[in-house]
Amino acid sequence: MTHRDFEGWDEYNRRFTAATEAGHPEWVRLAATNKEANGERPYFTGRECKHGHISPRYKSSKCMVCGLHGL
Ligand SMILES: [Zn+2]
Repeated sequence: MTHRDFEGWDEYNRRFTAATEAGHPEWVRLAATNKEANGERPYFTGRECKHGHISPRYKSSKCMVCGLHGL
């Protein structure tokens, strides 16, 4: 666990469930928001992007799947 303000168990559980269902429970250890990631690291919100992907995102808010496929 990195040193940061904890997001709260409801939010953590929501992100953990989304990450687990996506097959990547380790994503819950990423930052929860772009702000928390300082715009420098991937973060995982646990919410779908506009194309329906559950995936970590970068500062552009573009998800990693969209980035791979040029969406
Ligand atoms: Zn996407």
